[in-house]
Amino acid sequence: APLIRFSQVSKRWSSATAVRSLDVSIAPGQFVVLLGPSGCGKSTTLRMLAGLEAVSGGEIHIQGHNVTHQPPGARGLSMVFQSYALFPHLSVADNIVFGLRSRKVPKAERRERLAKVAEMVDLTAYLDRKPAKLSGGQRQRVALARAVISEHPICLMDEPLSNLDARLRSDMRRDIKALQARLGMTVIYVTHDQVEAMSMGDRVILMQHGEIVQDATPGELYNQP
Ligand code: ADP
Ligand code: ADP
Repeated sequence: APLIRFSQVSKRWSSATAVRSLDVSIAPGQFVVLLGPSGCGKSTTLRMLAGLEAVSGGEIHIQGHNVTHQPPGARGLSMVFQSYALFPHLSVADNIVFGLRSRKVPKAERRERLAKVAEMVDLTAYLDRKPAKLSGGQRQRVALARAVISEHPICLMDEPLSNLDARLRSDMRRDIKALQARLGMTVIYVTHDQVEAMSMGDRVILMQHGEIVQDATPGELYNQP
């Protein structure tokens, strides 16, 4: 059974239709990229999956459960955004464990998970710093750590690297892939960057005008006539 299934999912605003009758299934452990030009409906699709945006029609299932009308917290997923959305007055450590604390995960377990995750994203030496004292790449690592420490099976990423310079972007592409492989999580990754899509995706879903126009592996996309 698929981990995630969209059935005839649409999103209409009074001004426009952002997503048209989307049908797609995603298997567990995949790194799926939603690729397409600005305005094609990628973010809207991701936000409907996250529960941050209501659907206008259709259904979304996660692990066999109809989550179409469930709030974000009931969907078993975490998110990383383009803007890191860190709390400026909290240390790196407190930013990372924020969600665990509100879910009342015991202190000893929080510490253990923090140590493990901080090591994975190379932040062990920076746990006491405030976000203002970090580089852009380090801030995005904090946002990644905060998402993956929840141990949710699904991680949604919306253009997470677009605020970084080219060199950092390529380092982070590799780091995100390594993190995904190590944790075995399913990633849905939104980007308009073809290089990112082809180098990171196990599967690339190309959208245009709110519809899927191609759905293939990077190899298939390279080799098509
Ligand atoms: P992408 O992520 O591919 O850039 P979006 O999903 O953000 O595209 O947007 C898809 C379409 O929906 C665009 O035409 C956009 O202008 C429109 N849209 C996005 N958010 C809103 C909103 N809150 N109200 C009205 N229209 C919106
Ligand atoms: P839960 O563990 O119940 O899912 P979290 O507090 O961990 O709730 O938050 C879920 C996701 O939302 C996290 O992955 C995190 O990246 C993001 N998040 C948490 N707090 C904020 C915030 N203040 N602004 C933006 N995103 C946030």
